[in-house]
Amino acid sequence: MKTEICIIGAGPAGLMAAIFAAQAGARTMVIEANATAGRKLLLTGGGRCNFTHRATGKETARAFGRKGKFLSYCLHEFPPQGVRQFFHRRGLESKVDQAGCVFPVTDRASDVRDILSAEAKRLGVHFMFSTKVQNVTKPGHHFAVKTAGQIIQAEKLIIATGGLSYPDTGSTGDGFRFAQLFGHTIAEPRPSLAPLVTRQSWPGDLAGTATENVKISTSIGRKKIIVTGAMLFTHDGIGGPAVLQLSQFVTDFLPSEKIPLEVLVDLVSDIGEVELERMILKQVSDHPKKALVSILAEFVPRRVAQVLCEQVNLAGGLYANQLSADLRRRLLHLLKAVPFSIVRTRPIAEAMVTRGGVDVAQVDPKTMESKICPGLFFAGEILDADGPCGGYNLQMCWSTGVLAGSSAARSK
Ligand SMILES: Cc1cc2nc3c(=O)[nH]c(=O)nc-3n(C[C@H](O)[C@H](O)[C@H](O)COP(=O)(O)OP(=O)(O)OC[C@H]3O[C@@H](n4cnc5c(N)ncnc54)[C@H](O)[C@@H]3O)c2cc1C
Repeated sequence: MKTEICIIGAGPAGLMAAIFAAQAGARTMVIEANATAGRKLLLTGGGRCNFTHRATGKETARAFGRKGKFLSYCLHEFPPQGVRQFFHRRGLESKVDQAGCVFPVTDRASDVRDILSAEAKRLGVHFMFSTKVQNVTKPGHHFAVKTAGQIIQAEKLIIATGGLSYPDTGSTGDGFRFAQLFGHTIAEPRPSLAPLVTRQSWPGDLAGTATENVKISTSIGRKKIIVTGAMLFTHDGIGGPAVLQLSQFVTDFLPSEKIPLEVLVDLVSDIGEVELERMILKQVSDHPKKALVSILAEFVPRRVAQVLCEQVNLAGGLYANQLSADLRRRLLHLLKAVPFSIVRTRPIAEAMVTRGGVDVAQVDPKTMESKICPGLFFAGEILDADGPCGGYNLQMCWSTGVLAGSSAARSK
């Protein structure tokens, strides 16, 4: 079988690349190991799909740190506003939450996926589902893409196979192997936006309990890191949006399990320490017979209040009027600075994105074409560029997908 453009992977990056390649007039085929497109896409945003951010293209590039320079061209060409317009023109409106995260008004990731699939089909893209690419070579001017049943000959090849996170959705790292076959360097894949494991075991007693508005502070080398947002206690540590942001730094810098990263969590970051002490004192004087746990539960979830009391060797039975000044200060300090020792991130299979991948120094930022192998393009999470939570990672997939698809079609 022959095609002009062959795309491996029908995730967000592969689908967008297919649409823009076909729109530019290229005969386009997508090969996907799963029986349907966008399996991971359906999980995004808890099934609601935070598909981009309110930020400008420039701001989005900045969110990718050192990789922002590589992404700035594609984010300028197809910025967050362009993505929202793309879906708007196809009948899907979007809405923005307080944090600037953009979702479809329907709150359904399946609507995003269905629009992409329908658009690709309307433009004549040929899909081969339940077909895993086993190997790719370039024996002459064309690529030979080998599946279990056949070899597909393609003038251009776009690898959009994702990273290594959530491998059940299909992203098993095959693309890294294919890229290496063409001489590409792969920056070691590691977990990003992943829960963190603590040396302390007590978070396990609170597994499933969430706290809003925490502030986590730590230092790595000379770098001071502060992240904010909600936090979730897990069976072996901490997770939730604030912790996922922190994990981006931990995955690079955590030296070893023997030297944990010490962090302090302010559980009531929206109230200053002086104000918090005043509020606790008021509770004590207004309700002297109130259990101490109940007073703390005014500020944090009750289960957390119970565990905090245990941390200062205090059974929950104590009443407000029995609270000494020293104990009050210790509890106050604990609310504002719970210490955790981070020993590692959860494995990459549980991370929302993969850090590492195809070295972007070997990819042309103006086309997404390989600088090593002409006719080979990359799009999406396979590239060594990962961003924070908030729709940035999908935005990167859309922008690199558009550029890879249209450039591959243009250069045929
Ligand atoms: C739980 C979860 C929630 C997330 N929520 C958000 C969010 O709200 N906002 C956000 O911006 N990002 C979010 N992300 C990240 C985002 O989903 C990914 O960055 C994005 O899906 C990557 O897209 P991709 O097209 O590069 O790769 P994938 O989505 O991983 O798609 C790659 C495709 O390639 C196929 N494939 C792989 N190897 C082969 C092969 N050998 N042959 C054929 N096909 C193959 C796979 O089956 C897969 O379908 C979330 C991730 C997770 C895990």
